[in-house]
Amino acid sequence: MLAYWALAGRIACFTMPKLIDGRAIAEKVYVDLRREIAELRAKGITPGLAVILVGDNAASRAYVRSKDKMCRELGLHSLKLELPASTTQTELLSRVDELNQDSSIHGILVQSPPPEHIDEPAIVRALDPRKDVDGFHPENVAKLVIDEPTGFVPCTPLGVQRLLVESEIEINGAHVVVLGRSMIVGKPLALLLMQKNKNGNATVTVVHSRSRDLVQITRSADIVIAAIGRAEFVKADYVREGAVVIDVGINRVEDTTSERGYRLVGDVAFDEVSKKASAITPVPGGVGPMTIAMLMANTVKATRQSLLQLQ
Ligand code: NAP
Repeated sequence: MLAYWALAGRIACFTMPKLIDGRAIAEKVYVDLRREIAELRAKGITPGLAVILVGDNAASRAYVRSKDKMCRELGLHSLKLELPASTTQTELLSRVDELNQDSSIHGILVQSPPPEHIDEPAIVRALDPRKDVDGFHPENVAKLVIDEPTGFVPCTPLGVQRLLVESEIEINGAHVVVLGRSMIVGKPLALLLMQKNKNGNATVTVVHSRSRDLVQITRSADIVIAAIGRAEFVKADYVREGAVVIDVGINRVEDTTSERGYRLVGDVAFDEVSKKASAITPVPGGVGPMTIAMLMANTVKATRQSLLQLQ
């Protein structure tokens, strides 16, 4: 009888994956940030973040609102610049230049995607790399490649790494398979997790839409990270028993039972994959809250570094 209960307990443990709670981990980040911000303010310095939104994309507007709200909650100086969709490249460049020169602003972010007539890479290159808290400027990309810690790493990859570290998931030596090779998530994430340090040292494989034998590759991973923007693409047979699964995807699917007419799902088929995973992030409430927490962390880092440059 005892043996039966021991076995049942073990089975129950295995079929109940650890849910990685992004909201709770983001709160931990904010506790540390509040202390750092209080220290800076005691010296008369308030970290400042400027967010530029061009046009009226509804999703972008919502993201900008939540960034502004979080800044205010933490006591940061928040500047929200809402420009009309007709804003020209020259006008936008001149706004970026003003913010580059503004000493009350330590971080600048131009919400993506801008309207089509805007040359986004040129705008990113115009940012002062010391204020590029999104980590998209070529100088910061290079710093990530050469393991230079003064650079800024894009917020979502940084958030994914922090989720793994805080959940005590071993990255060192693990085989991580990243689905997706975008400059916002997949590529920087691969670089970050293969860095030669205690929160890196992973063996990273990146797969994308042209990869052959994708399922065979993902099944060999200790950690699967999905960032492809395809609703519930990663099924149970994509992961091995006991793998850790991080879902970066945010996809809207029609849901007539919801007031909004849609619901949010990730790139992972949560119900079936969670039965095999040892740990998994939900959508929403997984990676999403970490992205904004890392934006705040990058802004505080930019402020700290700006003080060192003044010395
Ligand atoms: P993206 O720029 O569209 O890149 C998607 C990547 O996935 C590309 O590399 C693409 O391959 C690959 N891909 C597409 N279909 C595939 C398939 N069937 N098999 C294998 N690979 C495939 O997207 P992104 O900006 O990285 O965003 C990815 C997802 O993460 C989206 O759902 C987005 O909303 C979400 N996201 C969430 C957060 C957050 O805070 N939680 C932040 C950023 C993004 P190719 O390169 O070959 O085209």
